Amino acid sequence: MRPAAPDTIRALERAGAEARACTRCAATLPLGPRPVFQLGAGARLLITSQAPGTHAHATATPFNDASGERLRGWLGLTRAQFYDPARVAIVPIGLCYPGRLPRGGDAPPAPGCAALWHPRLLPLLTEVRLTLLVGGYAQDFVLGKGRMAERVRDYAAFLPRHFPLPHPSWRTTAWERRNPWFAAELVPALRHAVAAALDPGCGPEAGCWRCGA
Ligand code: SF4
Repeated sequence: MRPAAPDTIRALERAGAEARACTRCAATLPLGPRPVFQLGAGARLLITSQAPGTHAHATATPFNDASGERLRGWLGLTRAQFYDPARVAIVPIGLCYPGRLPRGGDAPPAPGCAALWHPRLLPLLTEVRLTLLVGGYAQDFVLGKGRMAERVRDYAAFLPRHFPLPHPSWRTTAWERRNPWFAAELVPALRHAVAAALDPGCGPEAGCWRCGA
């Protein structure tokens, strides 16, 4: 794994510390500010997701719940691999738990959070090879407004830089059953793209017929 430049490592540590101390939305967050994310200067895979849930908030660990288990299953990563900041960075659109909607379901990520922190943090993740866009909020922020299901179906068009995915919530399991191509086609392609991104030996010289990377 190629080490990031010492200046980049220091800048990322500084920016990460500032993000962890952020209290901008203190008046509106139901459980108060507690930014939950994972950074590593050498990370080759970036997961841009929605926002932490209650368990992620309580444990200060992203995707530390059933959604995370589902996502790790899709990616073919163990918990140890997923939570290794030397390989994987996780930066949601809203860094803090945003609460619930009155009629149920997660509230949207805190407005303005991604616009504030992504430009500070992401340019310092200089080793990232692949960004997973998990859920509609992440896709809309990075790619512009669009239909999530269509983007997921058309995932290959966004490679090799991005891989759009649905949010791995329990609701997605019924959608998966109605869309067998997800397990049959997308998941193997996703695992290949993730493995290639994490493998320092994978590059243009490898001449892979599947990803062209
Ligand atoms: S949601 Fe984002 S902007 Fe708001 S307090 Fe948390 S880190 Fe700061």
